[in-house]
Amino acid sequence: MTASEVQRSSSRTESAPPTTVQGFAHGKAPAGGRTGAPRRALRPSSKVLPEHARSHNRSLVLQTLYHEGSRSRADIARETGLTRVTVSALVAELMADGLVVELGQREDSRPGKPATLLDLDRSAFVIVGLDLSEHSTFSGALLDLDGAISARAEVELAGSTGDEAVEKVVALARTLVDQAQAPVLGIGVGSPGVVDLAGVVLSAPNLGWNGMPLQSILAARFGVPVVVANDANAAVLAEHSFGGAAGDAMLITIGHGVGAGLLLGGTPLFGSRFAAGEIGHVVVGTDGGAVCACGKRGCLETWLSIPNLMKRLDELPDADHDRVLTEAGERLGIALAPVVGALDLSEVILSGPTELLDGPLAAATVETLRARTMAEFHGSLTLRMTTLGQDIVLRGAAVMVLSGQLGVS
Ligand SMILES: [Zn+2]
Repeated sequence: MTASEVQRSSSRTESAPPTTVQGFAHGKAPAGGRTGAPRRALRPSSKVLPEHARSHNRSLVLQTLYHEGSRSRADIARETGLTRVTVSALVAELMADGLVVELGQREDSRPGKPATLLDLDRSAFVIVGLDLSEHSTFSGALLDLDGAISARAEVELAGSTGDEAVEKVVALARTLVDQAQAPVLGIGVGSPGVVDLAGVVLSAPNLGWNGMPLQSILAARFGVPVVVANDANAAVLAEHSFGGAAGDAMLITIGHGVGAGLLLGGTPLFGSRFAAGEIGHVVVGTDGGAVCACGKRGCLETWLSIPNLMKRLDELPDADHDRVLTEAGERLGIALAPVVGALDLSEVILSGPTELLDGPLAAATVETLRARTMAEFHGSLTLRMTTLGQDIVLRGAAVMVLSGQLGVS
């Protein structure tokens, strides 16, 4: 069965009453805190219509099993607020699709027939994740439904741009699809630049892409669902699903350029021109700074991008390195303070080379943020490095496919 058949089967019947999906639609949290499955869903931003209720309910069951694992039909009914009859019908459908399996009977001392435990079959499908954010290499991986990587592949960019670079993406995806031991649920891609919601790369100067319809090109070549998004937006989704990020968080990617992904109330923020988080060419301060590739002076990237940081560190003796990193951290803090204040963020996460970022730079960023925001509201703001390392964009690409195809995240 292909992933598109999974999608089709989810719309076979659309009869469940709309009231059963209210908890999901409004992100309602049961008492006892914010851990657990349904509350961590990326919140749908549009109203749930009755005709969509069944696929929402289906996602609700999948989401519960995805995060909690090993549950009986009665457990799922209790945790989701769906009726036993609805849960049984959805489970039968999900078992027929190969997504849910019975694990056996629960061993407990309660009288009566022991309950049969269910789980998501985490090896039923594989996801192809691609990371196009590195300057010289496109990297990719096969991931299972838990985001674990089972195979990797790379292709050297070797200066390719335009259609030639697209063909390298296709070749990389082909290598991975050919290695897949299970049906491919979809292909997720984290691309540099500004990407619209249809997966068109509107602008990625380094790759020479302007209005490149990468998502539809890959979908046509491979016949599976494809999601293409900005690399930092993919990365913040990985932090939300696998890295424990709060629902209000900003992830800053620091590499060849500087970008950011934003989550507000568990919902990714894209902006009306899909350029939310494009902070690299925001000028920081009024005191000049180095001339940027974009022509302005003192852009955040001139202080913080890895090539610019390395250049300054190479020019100066070791004794001055902490000062350079502290200064870069202060500039980042100055740029982020109004964002943290305006959006009431609780968490800022840095992604990039740990040896440069996780020291005087991060310390200066958090100190500057605290000094420039209101202690009573933002004093508890946390700033940390991502725990997902170099694979953050690959895993975020997998989250986009999981979220789009199964409604889990
Ligand atoms: Zn600039």
